[in-house]
Amino acid sequence: MTTSTSSRERVAEGADRPAVEIVNVRKSFGDVEVIKGLSLRVARGEVLCIIGPSGSGKSSLLRCVNHLEKIDFGAILLDGSYVGYRRVGETLHEMRLSAIAAQRAQVGMVFQRFHLFPHMTALENIIEAPVGVRKESKAEATARARALLDRVGLADREGAYPGQLSGGQQQRVAIARALAMQPKVLLFDEPTSALDPELVGEVLTVMRSLAEEGQTMIVVTHEIGFAREVADRVVFMDDGQVVEEGLASEVLESPREQRTREFLGKVL
Ligand code: ADP
Ligand code: MG
Repeated sequence: MTTSTSSRERVAEGADRPAVEIVNVRKSFGDVEVIKGLSLRVARGEVLCIIGPSGSGKSSLLRCVNHLEKIDFGAILLDGSYVGYRRVGETLHEMRLSAIAAQRAQVGMVFQRFHLFPHMTALENIIEAPVGVRKESKAEATARARALLDRVGLADREGAYPGQLSGGQQQRVAIARALAMQPKVLLFDEPTSALDPELVGEVLTVMRSLAEEGQTMIVVTHEIGFAREVADRVVFMDDGQVVEEGLASEVLESPREQRTREFLGKVL
């Protein structure tokens, strides 16, 4: 009895609802289909790593998750809500821009090339969206930004401009900026591949600590060691499709598919 009650309560709270659900999504650029009927689920608190060759559609998929690209078919749900669309009867209508912006604020994105505002300090970069989009007071946003800078190991650099920071420091500011919006999911698109090798570790350390704290993350990465250590599940994507998915240990140590083995043979 106790079990059924508690599971009912969990369903009522939406605790069993995936953070992100991608259902049979298709996406073309012109005549070229780059996502070919792809489905994936990411549970709350889960770290999903996506690996795969260049051009396999990984970035396009991430961009669809926050509606930077529109999907042609299928659906993406963020915490149970359609991304970019609202349902009216049997049909889906694209949301208004204001609603898209509000939804996008729930998805943090960290890019290969940081994309910080060059004319703003680290602190100003972090408070920009909380103050501008979420209408937090500057004092409140600043207090949280300082805590976030401390969390990514940059408490002493709040007044630095991006040009005064190393690539690894800039990427850690970018992570703090994404966290400042308290996103339901953080998307990382090859966050360390533009960094000098000696700066990769400091960024992966921050990401590892977020994973330990239960932040839901989808990480596109070529860092197989990171994926093996931190990912709950690994997806190998090729040619716009999921070729193989499973526990990190399964996919990386004993892949079932020949294409996965060939890819791992090249990157390891
Ligand atoms: P990955 O991140 O796995 O390298 P991408 O999602 O960047 O793959 O690209 C998948 C395919 O889609 C590639 O063939 C790429 O050239 C194409 N593509 C990506 N973005 C666009 C775009 N905006 N317009 C046209 N083609 C695109
Ligand atoms: Mg890419």
